[in-house]
Amino acid sequence: MTNPAFLSHLNATLAQINADGLMKRERELTSAQGARVMVAGRPLINLSANNYLGLAGDARLVAAAKSAMDDHGYGMASVRFICGTQDLHRALEGRIARYLGTDDSILFAACFDANGGLFEPLLGEEDAVISDSLNHASIIDGIRLCKARRFRYANNDMADLEAQLIAARAGGARFIMIATDGVFSMDGTYAKLDEIAALAEKYGAVTMVDDCHATGFTGPQGRGTPARAGVKIDLMTGTLGKALGGALGGYIAGPQAAIDLLRQRARPYLFSNALPPAVVGAGLAALDIIEGADDLRAKLVENARYWRAGLAALGFDLIAGDHPIIPVMLRDAKLAQSFASALFDRGVLAPAFFFPVVPKGAARIRTQMSAALTRNDLDTALAAFAGAAKDVGIAL
Ligand SMILES: *Cc1c(COP(=O)(O)O)cnc(C)c1O
Repeated sequence: MTNPAFLSHLNATLAQINADGLMKRERELTSAQGARVMVAGRPLINLSANNYLGLAGDARLVAAAKSAMDDHGYGMASVRFICGTQDLHRALEGRIARYLGTDDSILFAACFDANGGLFEPLLGEEDAVISDSLNHASIIDGIRLCKARRFRYANNDMADLEAQLIAARAGGARFIMIATDGVFSMDGTYAKLDEIAALAEKYGAVTMVDDCHATGFTGPQGRGTPARAGVKIDLMTGTLGKALGGALGGYIAGPQAAIDLLRQRARPYLFSNALPPAVVGAGLAALDIIEGADDLRAKLVENARYWRAGLAALGFDLIAGDHPIIPVMLRDAKLAQSFASALFDRGVLAPAFFFPVVPKGAARIRTQMSAALTRNDLDTALAAFAGAAKDVGIAL
């Protein structure tokens, strides 16, 4: 390092993160992702993955990935528009669009990139974008990269959204886009899409929903929060990295003109490698499974209901709802961390979430249900939660 002061500065920043009790430490899994995982030679019940339908370890997806590699190779070594588009990519884009009921869709390396690339090509400085205050970091970053005027409304506060719509119109905005997560992932609560769609209609706004924590398992056939609410949303983004197999990859689905323009202008699409055939092939297989039957969704709903009821019966403080994200509120960051380590000692993987991921004083254990978890797993985990509460001195 030519300037040693630079590294000293980085080390001081790390020391501060550690002193504040905010250092994130990664557990290393030596197994595949699943309902049970191996960590440090021990099997743990996993309550923390976005593996809603249990497809991350599904043998059918592994086989589809291998088969796609056999006939389409390992990597693309190209962006899409040079020589990186295979029949598989277009097949998956068409398949996602049909599933979600849109004209077309466009793949990205991740939903982080989809959200990062969506706003700048579609909105100019004459336009406005209105964003929920709890939106995912990638939406916030995507909006920062576009030239439209920015407005923000308090989480799920429809009166505030309407006030922002009025302000954007009064400011002379040509087009207004409302952007929201379909599900707020720290709380497991849904955006009020019926009211958002009605306000969009009233003010002539375009709507955008990020459905990462919904597609595949929420609403009829798992078509997501717009289908759940029975409304039409203009632009939807999503991920292949959660319920749809859990590997990686993101997409934007919407009207043909929007998708065509994104293909010309979205920077993370133009300047980043095409998804590998294995991921695309397995994505198609994931949609076969998801569209083919309701059994995994039914199992997930049943698990979420059982887990919520079990935690409530033990006396834990939950955020009400019916989403498979079920946060156990402990409030205090240090308490949440000791609780998570007591759970770990008792064979359950469920890390603590604390500031800055959630507000100060709102620390929690965010549990997430999966169709892969058995009733026995849940009963064992409930006993571990009761035991961990005793270990750290929480009176239930
Ligand atoms: C996970 C997530 C993303 C990022 O998805 P990746 O495909 O992993 O980049 C974006 N938005 C929301 C709401 C998410 O939960």
